[in-house]
Amino acid sequence: MQGDVESILLTEAQISRRVEELGREIARFYQDSQDGIVIVPILSGSIVFLADLIRKLPIRMRIGMAIASSYVGTTIRPEGARLLARLLPRIKDREVLIVDDILDTGGTLRLVQQNIAEGEPRRICTAVLLRKPGKAPPDVAVDFVGFDIEDRFVVGYGLDYNDLYRNLPYIGVLRPELYED
Ligand code: 5GP
Ligand code: MG
Repeated sequence: MQGDVESILLTEAQISRRVEELGREIARFYQDSQDGIVIVPILSGSIVFLADLIRKLPIRMRIGMAIASSYVGTTIRPEGARLLARLLPRIKDREVLIVDDILDTGGTLRLVQQNIAEGEPRRICTAVLLRKPGKAPPDVAVDFVGFDIEDRFVVGYGLDYNDLYRNLPYIGVLRPELYED
């Protein structure tokens, strides 16, 4: 599996340092919210980021989840994101923090942000580990970003290709012959 990766973009140590910083940033941001926040990770890509991030967040929190899919299987699937399921504690009048692995075209986040907004939370903020440059339209706002990366299809640390590679501890690019398109 490790041999399938052509180059490593972000090492385990780089990710861990940045997630710790993000945790401090986010904890400071929410320090005055007495009744805590509701974290809504978008599955499955955000699971590793979520697990590391919440352990760096010493604040009161409840965790729900939203399951979305944009790329089913392969790297490119132009018909856009779909919300497959959600499982949430009460969000009305509460602070909601959506967590996703990567902001690319913004389709997935827009969908989840709009859906969460219908539940009338006090405020919605969004944290992503990765952001690709300049592709997301301005209406898709993100408040916390781990890394800006170049526009390549990456895997590892939760991100998959054909449902594989999520367990790589770093983020990298696969050898080109492994991609189907
Ligand atoms: P968007 O809807 O912003 O175009 O894409 C967001 C979703 O597409 C992410 O949650 C992620 O699941 C998937 N995605 C976008 N770019 C990449 C990438 O480079 N690698 C992987 N593995 N998934 C990606
Ligand atoms: Mg995803």
